[in-house]
Amino acid sequence: MRIVLLGAPGSGKGTQAQRLQSDYGFPQVSTGELLRTAVAERTDLGLLAKAAMDSGELVSNEVVLQMIKKRLAETDALEGFSLDGYPRNWDQAISLEGVLVELGQKLDAAVFMEVDFEVLMKRLMGRRTCSETGKLLNIYFSSKGELTACIEAGGKLLQRKDDNEKTIRNRLTVYERETSPLIEYYRDRKLLRVVPALGTADEVHSNLIGLLGLD
Ligand code: AMP
Repeated sequence: MRIVLLGAPGSGKGTQAQRLQSDYGFPQVSTGELLRTAVAERTDLGLLAKAAMDSGELVSNEVVLQMIKKRLAETDALEGFSLDGYPRNWDQAISLEGVLVELGQKLDAAVFMEVDFEVLMKRLMGRRTCSETGKLLNIYFSSKGELTACIEAGGKLLQRKDDNEKTIRNRLTVYERETSPLIEYYRDRKLLRVVPALGTADEVHSNLIGLLGLD
């Protein structure tokens, strides 16, 4: 299955993409993750992307397109994927159509993960990743057991550099301006599905797989 996950930063796209990957085997393709790796490895592409990422702006369409083309052509993505964080504006959505035509593929759905704006702030401010297991956690919402399991496994709760209040506000503004019009883009193409994304990760996951007919 080939899906796009649409939704504001903090709507849970990464968490759900990880669940789809572990339960159904189609890989999470996250442009944010690919970019963070490029920044950490100080590649040319990473150096180009860093300033935009630190301020919560979008990295240039050209840079992200190069990355996504390469990633979608890798063997594990040929049978399916969930795109987490791509496309993020109208031009990227059109580029994606082109990439998929070249690969002889079609999207099955674009899932809009709908969350109230106020909830997003708390989700983003509390978001952490376990350095040992890579699990996404939240200091406000994860259970004590989940948080201590990370520490006991020898991990640290890492916070993303762009999960600070100023950058978060900008990322949400950029989302409203650039990305939210894609809801109409995919509605027009009869690919849009809407999943309420307010509950726990488990609840959202079961809504999502029901909606996609994977249950
Ligand atoms: P994310 O992990 O999806 O929240 O992305 C983190 C940051 O990476 C964003 O704030 C952007 O600066 C950059 N980024 C991720 N995906 C894209 C994209 N599709 N287009 C442009 N910039 C992106």
